[in-house]
Amino acid sequence: MNITQHPSVVIVGGGPVGLCMAALLASCSRFEEIKVHLFDSGDVPIWMADKTDLRVYALSRVSQNILSGLGVWNSIVDCRASSYERMHVWQGEYDSRVGSLTFDSAEIGEPDLGHIVENNLLRSVLIESAKNYGVKISFNTELDEIDVNDERVQIVTSKGETLSAAVLIAADGSDSTVRDELGIPVTNIPYEQRAIVTHVSTEYSHMATAWQRFLPQGPLAFLPLKDGCSSVVWSTDAHHAKTLCKIEQTKFITELQHASGGVLGQISLESNSASFPIQASYASRYCGNRTVLLGDAAHTIHPLAGQGMNLGLMDAAVLAEVLIEAQKKREDIGDYRVLRRYERNRKGDNLKMLFALDALHRLFGISGKIAPSIRSIGLSAVDAMPFAKSMIMRQAFGYRAQSSRTVLYSA
Ligand SMILES: Cc1cc2nc3c(=O)[nH]c(=O)nc-3n(C[C@H](O)[C@H](O)[C@H](O)COP(=O)(O)OP(=O)(O)OC[C@H]3O[C@@H](n4cnc5c(N)ncnc54)[C@H](O)[C@@H]3O)c2cc1C
Repeated sequence: MNITQHPSVVIVGGGPVGLCMAALLASCSRFEEIKVHLFDSGDVPIWMADKTDLRVYALSRVSQNILSGLGVWNSIVDCRASSYERMHVWQGEYDSRVGSLTFDSAEIGEPDLGHIVENNLLRSVLIESAKNYGVKISFNTELDEIDVNDERVQIVTSKGETLSAAVLIAADGSDSTVRDELGIPVTNIPYEQRAIVTHVSTEYSHMATAWQRFLPQGPLAFLPLKDGCSSVVWSTDAHHAKTLCKIEQTKFITELQHASGGVLGQISLESNSASFPIQASYASRYCGNRTVLLGDAAHTIHPLAGQGMNLGLMDAAVLAEVLIEAQKKREDIGDYRVLRRYERNRKGDNLKMLFALDALHRLFGISGKIAPSIRSIGLSAVDAMPFAKSMIMRQAFGYRAQSSRTVLYSA
């Protein structure tokens, strides 16, 4: 067998999490002797200044800090990012002002609650950053074979390259091939829901607010975009989603208008739409000898709180820190005991978020006569408790994780 490359770390998957991992590792000067090679089965992402990507993420302050530390946050903001200052949550059976909950960044002395950032923009700036730090990136390249032994892990790609590494990092998303190849069991929580995403313009200004209405079939969110439009994430049962994807535009708008309760007035479609399956899942373990999972390959959660990417970027920051510390101490960075430090740090937090969102999803799915009024009282009660709101906002920022020294290079 002809081994053509000898990188020390191979990353499978060039989604935002894998790319962030590559850039973080390579950016550390102490890590100079470590070569990083990343490959992805898809095409090179292209961000367009005149067209907002359909896939957007609500990024938290901790994600912003990770990206700032890498030196890419300003490029993201210069290109296009929309800060949101408030989040307004209410439930479907009621008017948006009744039994609602508003989070306002001013209440915790912050300028905003986070930013809405496009997938292609995030990936493009991370690719540029990783390449500048010397990462080799190959697109349209799949994983063919993995062979792990005590000394190295060997990977054969669909392009016939054989790569030898000290560690294989799997960031290949929720259907992770690496996880399957390694035989790591995964527990799925099926929701029988899909999320429809599209961009809309609205009669009333979004007022830098993320609007979220909990409907019996799932939450409907309007995330504020820089151009005044909103990104819609409409989670609904699979059958309803299928119907919504098939009906003509005017009917779709009528349905969306109705589902929104008219909170932003008349709606017009500004893009095509796409739909994504919704599930929660978690791998039984995040690492083995010389192999480690992160991002959606390790865990997926319901998108109702927009936290999946934030958890994945935090995974990348923690794993980078663990590997860099191990390298400094001249430890074998692929040793199971080293990789377990990352798992111990991240698994608990990720599972806590997964089960909290699962519980929220189930709570808003309970039907019956009194359930809506109890939920409504609950939302109003939390709204009237500044301390509770502040705690929830700080949790969403990821402050607990940040205080644990894990946000590597925060400015
Ligand atoms: C509707 C919806 C809305 C969401 N909104 C938010 C939000 O607002 N905020 C938030 O934080 N999170 C959000 N999320 C969650 C977020 O999308 C995911 O957590 C995030 O995309 C995970 O990133 P990743 O890099 O781990 O995986 P992915 O983005 O799935 O990337 C995986 C990459 O691996 C590549 N790949 C796959 N298989 C192979 C292979 N065999 N070989 C090589 N490459 C491979 C793929 O091409 C892909 O590029 C949302 C999710 C959904 C469904």
